[in-house]
Amino acid sequence: MKRSPPPVTATTTAWSSSKPPLLRFLHTCHADFLPEATGAVADYIPELGKADPTHFGISLATLDGHVYEVGDTRVPFTIQSMSKPFVFALALDTLGAERVESVIGVEPSGDPFNSIRLNAENHPFNAMVNAGAIACSGLLHADKGDGAFEFIRQALGRFAGRELDVDEAVYASESATGDRNRAIGYLLRTNSVITENVPAVLDVYFRQCSILVTARDTAVMAATLANRGINPLTEEQVVTPYAIARTLSVMTSSGMYDYAGEWIYRVGIPAKSGVGGGILAALPARLGLGSYSPKLDKHGNSVRGIKVCETLSAHYDLHMLNRSDDARHSIIADYNIGKNPSRRVRRPQEQEILARHFQEVRVIELVGTLSLSNVDYVSRRLAGSPRPEFVIFDLRRVTATTRAGARLVAEAFQELAELGVTVILSGIKRTSREWATISEWTRRLGNIRDFYLLDTAIEWAEDQIVYRYGGSIDFLETTELAEQPLLAGLSEAEIADLTALCTVRTYQQNEKVIAAGGEATSLFFLRSGVVHVTLPDGIRLATLTAGMAFGEMALLEPTRSADVLADMSATAYEVAIRDFERFREQHPRAGERIMRNLAQILADRLIVANAKVDLLTSG
Ligand code: GLN
Repeated sequence: MKRSPPPVTATTTAWSSSKPPLLRFLHTCHADFLPEATGAVADYIPELGKADPTHFGISLATLDGHVYEVGDTRVPFTIQSMSKPFVFALALDTLGAERVESVIGVEPSGDPFNSIRLNAENHPFNAMVNAGAIACSGLLHADKGDGAFEFIRQALGRFAGRELDVDEAVYASESATGDRNRAIGYLLRTNSVITENVPAVLDVYFRQCSILVTARDTAVMAATLANRGINPLTEEQVVTPYAIARTLSVMTSSGMYDYAGEWIYRVGIPAKSGVGGGILAALPARLGLGSYSPKLDKHGNSVRGIKVCETLSAHYDLHMLNRSDDARHSIIADYNIGKNPSRRVRRPQEQEILARHFQEVRVIELVGTLSLSNVDYVSRRLAGSPRPEFVIFDLRRVTATTRAGARLVAEAFQELAELGVTVILSGIKRTSREWATISEWTRRLGNIRDFYLLDTAIEWAEDQIVYRYGGSIDFLETTELAEQPLLAGLSEAEIADLTALCTVRTYQQNEKVIAAGGEATSLFFLRSGVVHVTLPDGIRLATLTAGMAFGEMALLEPTRSADVLADMSATAYEVAIRDFERFREQHPRAGERIMRNLAQILADRLIVANAKVDLLTSG
């Protein structure tokens, strides 16, 4: 059979309309578990019994703020016990951990959510069971009075990234029938966990359980838990990272009631369920999942929701205790200036010094996260080799810094400073988050030198080596043509003839000497000052000081490929290519010598360029 060729039409359309693989997976989950018919809708709160058992929605929110949705993700349902972790986090931040911990424990009870049992101190076991949640609402009520519920509703809205309403019917229904919770409330008061008006506290609790959310909302709320308290959609810091870590801990041990041990064993993701049919799961630093399906198992957890979480965790191997990382991948390149000098073209005397002391400037290019193990690995790599005078850490590929990593960085820098090693940072903006984290720990070390461009950092360190080992870099010194490497080997008479063809030019700081794209009609010999060669996109190719030729590619090409700008006031000999060609005709031996010098200079540059490419590909 003759196959027709694949359609040539817009591949871009096909690509953009195709589903991301994670969304496909969620669709498969939804389709696979839709027929699941076991479980029963909760009806001990009569109004909950009205839920449509066929509803099924799955939503997953990423920490960069993308929300995947499959099925009934916009159907509102009451949050119920999924309010507990958020109210606990809120209480920790509002009242302080000490106050909250003085009356609410953090041990799993192994009991159902509505158990009336308290722990040995007559306190609730934890804030994820009803007794602990009612105690939490009581603490907030004691602090905020009548404003407590509104305070909670608004905070939950910040977790969801939108204003949340209350289902008055469910509230009224639970309020009319919630005697078991009332009993818990009075038990708490007789044990001084609640110190005031029990009905008012229960009112806050019943209302908070009746807040309406969707699967999408709960995914975003879970993602906020997974993101150290920053809502990934609004970027608001809703509660502190401290409160988040404590809340996730209690969710881990108690979020799924008397199924919690099994849950963390099998799924390994902190989660919380509600009798309204919701489950939210927060995988720290990764994602938030929200599902809605009202039929519950005997523990009061959504049957389909459990299956979604189990499948997601198994398929992508998300168990939070099954992680690994290899610190050795954090260094992408490690070299010294022997292999990879700066783009500054050095004069012979400087070259000699740098060639003797190339081991004194070490460059370590880092990638990924500055974590405890990565920074530790880097510090051991450094300690295990000869000690340089300068270490440059290039951070342009560093994407995150953990607090432990930043602390260890500070300790490592301190140690290097004590050993007399100068630390230099590159690739990091002073306005960046990484800079803020690092400088928070390194502030007391005083000024750490930093350069945005790695090349500038290397150049600065090279200059220090040149100064230290007797060289001087005199930017004001004037160099005559005879000292130009391009003209090496020419006789005095030849130099004199060439000098006669030259015009001396003077440039102010920042003045453009050569413009990219222009016609290449002359070449230059820098007499004093400093210029740099830059590509039109801003990449600095070379920095030149007195004694160097530039624009010499005019001998080979008719158009200028780069800009040349004066870094400070500079003077140069300019000679027109036309005159230079005539000079070569009149002095064939000198002409040949110059072309040979040019070939040598270009070959040297190529060697350096190849070494740079090699460093990165083999790094
Ligand atoms: N409002 C419900 C109750 O207190 C919440 C229980 C739950 O979601 N597990 O009974």
